[in-house]
Amino acid sequence: MATVELRNVSKLFGANVKAVDNVNITINDKEFVVLVGPSGCGKTTTLRMIAGLEDITSGEIYIDGTLVNDITPKDRDIAMVFQNYALYPHMTVYDNMAFGLRIRKYPKQEIQTRVNEAAQILHIEELLDRRPKALSGGQRQRVAVGRAIVRKPKAFLFDEPLSNLDAKLRVQMRAEISALHTRLQATMIYVTHDQVEAMTMGDKIVVLKDGIIQQIGSPLELYNHPKNRFVAAFIGSPPMNIMTAKILEKDGKIVADEGDFQIELEGKLADTLKSYINKEVLIGIRPEDFVYTQTPQKTNNIRTHVEVVEPLGAEIHLYVSTQNHQLIVRVQPRYEFHVGDEANFAPDMEKLHFFDIDSEEIIGA
Ligand code: ATP
Repeated sequence: MATVELRNVSKLFGANVKAVDNVNITINDKEFVVLVGPSGCGKTTTLRMIAGLEDITSGEIYIDGTLVNDITPKDRDIAMVFQNYALYPHMTVYDNMAFGLRIRKYPKQEIQTRVNEAAQILHIEELLDRRPKALSGGQRQRVAVGRAIVRKPKAFLFDEPLSNLDAKLRVQMRAEISALHTRLQATMIYVTHDQVEAMTMGDKIVVLKDGIIQQIGSPLELYNHPKNRFVAAFIGSPPMNIMTAKILEKDGKIVADEGDFQIELEGKLADTLKSYINKEVLIGIRPEDFVYTQTPQKTNNIRTHVEVVEPLGAEIHLYVSTQNHQLIVRVQPRYEFHVGDEANFAPDMEKLHFFDIDSEEIIGA
């Protein structure tokens, strides 16, 4: 298995489209790294440059310490699993999986052992004689993964491998790929636009926007300590509530004034936000970081009106509004809410996020 390192990697398409902008990523041996971001953020281009399917405009890519910029895809010893599976329709499952080994002139016995082993890992032994058209989407995806496994590559690259599957199968395959990672102890780089996939599968997540890395971290680092508004809003479902507020000094206290409610800041956060007095900032509060209070509190009370109630069983999502903002709040199912109710909340003071209104970078949390 292998380490993969990208140093100052950029990709220009033509003169104007900067698909990837000075990206630095270190992927450790056996690590599962997810590249995530909205459509067009440069994740597929990054993966294709690692695979050697796309030239690099500038920068360096190292696999296991070797500079691979000028090494052809087939000599990089990595395997890629594509979104559309890319199976050969006229070949059986066995032949699809064996193909890459045959062209590399592996002995017949070795091919047979590897294909059977991969088929067993992926539970597709009974499908080896079928052709792709006689397989379900999930089975095709397993064959595509099997074709990568038999090669025992230095690293696996996955490009949105689950996006053609229905929601239930996606959840199942997500768990299977995670289990496969544990079993094979392989370096895996996985591209998706789905933040839930990123959070559930990645040891490390790289968030990209417009070809630029926004943040690299473990799922919980990104969730609890987003570096900017984009990461804060992108990671987490329902998304973080983000509101404008003005920082004021009132009776010697530092207060974030949303217009309809005020939050009194304390300790380090109050100190940090002193430099923003009389300026607007963005406050971020995750839906689960509101505490429901049956009677309005004297300070830090957020009075809202309930507009939509979504009872999900294990929790309730409430769409509520203040005069100035619409918020999503996640509450325990032991409370009952109705559209039109007044509902009062207090923010969890330990879980507030403040962002600069212009740069959108975190300024305090
Ligand atoms: P998606 O989730 O939609 O696949 P992505 O994050 O993988 O998006 P890329 O496919 O890497 O994004 O594309 C990044 C940018 O580069 C986009 O603006 C895209 O239009 C552009 N781009 C990608 N391939 C080419 C190409 N061959 N020629 C010109 N522009 C390209």
